[in-house]
Amino acid sequence: MCIGTAPGAAPTASRRALRPEAAPRQARLSAPADLGAHERAIGAALRVYLPPGKALELRLTNNHYSMISVRRKPDGYRLRLHRMFIGAEPRIVRALSRYVVHNDRRASQVLGAYIDGHQHIIKKQPRKPRQINLRTAGVCHDLREIFDRLNVERFDSTLDARITWGPVAAHRARRSIKMGSFAVEDRIIRIHPVLDQPDVPAFFVAWIVFHEMLHGKHDIVRKGRRRIFHGPAFVDEERTYPDHERATAWERANLDRLLGG
Ligand SMILES: [Zn+2]
Repeated sequence: MCIGTAPGAAPTASRRALRPEAAPRQARLSAPADLGAHERAIGAALRVYLPPGKALELRLTNNHYSMISVRRKPDGYRLRLHRMFIGAEPRIVRALSRYVVHNDRRASQVLGAYIDGHQHIIKKQPRKPRQINLRTAGVCHDLREIFDRLNVERFDSTLDARITWGPVAAHRARRSIKMGSFAVEDRIIRIHPVLDQPDVPAFFVAWIVFHEMLHGKHDIVRKGRRRIFHGPAFVDEERTYPDHERATAWERANLDRLLGG
């Protein structure tokens, strides 16, 4: 069981507005050497609430996505917890215990709110740059050019993301196709190479790129444990795109051909 979070897509202004007044400075100042002490302290606070005979194995993490993960075993619990929980108030510790022991729904909402209020701690962690080969020039369509043009026209040149053609998959008949994707972690847009064909119009490729760029602008909306990737603001902005009608009509008319590869 995991409670995850996906930082990275919110405009700075709204993130700043969400930042609570009194951020737990402790968490940011902790050197890794202190972690053992923090693990023992949080572990001791949690054990008070565990059923008798159940052990707790606690690790503090610095993950980007998984903030809480629990393995429930017959003899106890293995809990991996993000460092943002260092210094959490008793109310949060109690919610953690209810979540660990009972997978309690209300507790998971309390924890979700706590995680949302501590996003800045996740953002503080240095990000390991990953070596990724970007391939923007296709045979027929140049993704760099499309991205740069859309960034100027639609995003005031503020969208920070990279783009590449996705890997060429083995040929097979498909029932569906993911024409593009946006990886929140690396901020990389991948466009399916099946679109790099002379009879796929440039306006359609641009439409797919635009959709993925919107993912870079609009935060994923959280509703309880559900994550909504295309929230109302996303959908509204997508509809303002001049080629919206033309592109969706082209997709309907040509999808079968694309699937056939
Ligand atoms: Zn999407």
